[in-house]
Amino acid sequence: MKKTLTLGVFSILLILGLIVYNLYQQKEATLREAHNNLVGLATSISLDQKRAFAGLEQIFFGLENYMASHENDRHVDPPEIRRIIDDLIIQNDYLTALLIIDADGQVLHWNNNFQKPNLGQRHYFHYHQNNQTNRLFFSGPQQSLVNPGQRIFGVSRAVRNNDQSLSLVIAAIIDLAFFDRQYQAILDVPGTTLTISSTDGLVYSQLPANDEIIGVKLPEYAASFRLQESGTLPLNVTRKVAHYPLLITVGQKESTVLIGWHFNVLFFSLFGLLLALIIGIMTWRITLHQRHEQQIKHQLREQAHTDPLTGLANRRYALEQAKLETKKALRNKSFLTVILLDMDFFKKINDTYGHQSGDMVLEGTAEILRNCCRATDILCRYGGEEFLLVLPDTNVHGALITAQKIRAQMEETTYQQDDKKIHVTASIGVTQWEPDEDDISEALQRADKALYKIKRSGRNNVCWLPRNPSQDDPGQSIVWLHQASK
Ligand code: GH3
Ligand code: MG
Ligand code: MG
Repeated sequence: MKKTLTLGVFSILLILGLIVYNLYQQKEATLREAHNNLVGLATSISLDQKRAFAGLEQIFFGLENYMASHENDRHVDPPEIRRIIDDLIIQNDYLTALLIIDADGQVLHWNNNFQKPNLGQRHYFHYHQNNQTNRLFFSGPQQSLVNPGQRIFGVSRAVRNNDQSLSLVIAAIIDLAFFDRQYQAILDVPGTTLTISSTDGLVYSQLPANDEIIGVKLPEYAASFRLQESGTLPLNVTRKVAHYPLLITVGQKESTVLIGWHFNVLFFSLFGLLLALIIGIMTWRITLHQRHEQQIKHQLREQAHTDPLTGLANRRYALEQAKLETKKALRNKSFLTVILLDMDFFKKINDTYGHQSGDMVLEGTAEILRNCCRATDILCRYGGEEFLLVLPDTNVHGALITAQKIRAQMEETTYQQDDKKIHVTASIGVTQWEPDEDDISEALQRADKALYKIKRSGRNNVCWLPRNPSQDDPGQSIVWLHQASK
């Protein structure tokens, strides 16, 4: 029964454990897959950007070379260079404007018919004046002065003289809407965000379109890139655009990624609970059945061992137990005594008061035996109105005291039958089992002999019969307890 319960509980725990483990693995796999997709997306966008800016650098080199070969045309706007600039803008749809600026900040050439402004105060111009590098400079996003409502940013490069002094600045104005147009289509997974920022977190563009964030410096994008390198943030992947100071961050919300997984959690939890419930109910029912069977077995065993009227052990069971006690006594070198009790003139009680009254007296006698004996003693209804007691760890002296107690209590006890009182006495034979005897059958015969001695000499008494009466003086062996009844 305990095994069934343990097995049931173990099965339930195992199933629930497996479900939890499986869900955990699924979650990990879903997050890993989403992370890998984001890595692929961020990498391909950063490569695309790298191509675009490498192309822009080629344009800058082309213009630089052109300007070097037309050194004398610097202060004019010949139709040829204007045509080259216009062609470049048509061919590269991310370009809004191309400007060639001299060392004083004066625009020399651009794709516009307006008066050429002096851009000497612009941030990027100062940068090229003050930093002796030929690298591309990315200025922050801003509103276009030429086309109101348009957001742009500039990419510029310095052209230097042999002495490293500033010769020209070539600048490209890029339409920010270009990013939206370019990447809208590939962000087809719902909940995915693409952010293009500078390496220090200045946001150029975000998809889905979020105008408020453009131009804002959000250090978390720069931090995200650094954390990325330590292998964390699985759903926020950042890649740098080659050697350009740009970061591509592709992110997805965990809740979006795990929508399917949440459904699985619900499904498997319900499935697990249902299974646990079924196993629980089955275990419970099997346990109940087993308990019932055990009770029946126990009852049957009890019935096979006990006398139904008195509840004492029956003859067969008592003899079995007595045999075991002889072995124990032999091993422990302890005493074992046998008492045989026969009720006096019991037939008369039946005849006078009826069989039922006789039964009542038998039950009362069994109760007296229980009261006078120890829990370890074997109490048995040996036959009709005969009782056998086997007392382990008890010598003749102790057995005689017990027998006397029983005899006295039986004599004192009265049973009420209607308005009449029933009195009953018993004759009790006592003997000791000897260690060289196989079982208690010889001791039983001695006890029986002792019993009949009493029957013959007047009843209501106790008699001890040793194995060898000649040595122990048989004349002294009868213990007269109640001289009056003699
Ligand atoms: P003695 O003093 O010589 O032992 O006389 P006795 O009448 O007790 O002995 P006897 O063996 O002649 O009678 C025993 C009686 O016990 C006979 C029987 O009716 C009665 N008896 C045996 N078993 C039961 C029982 O289960 N219930 C009842 N009421 N009487 C029983
Ligand atoms: Mg009898
Ligand atoms: Mg009798």
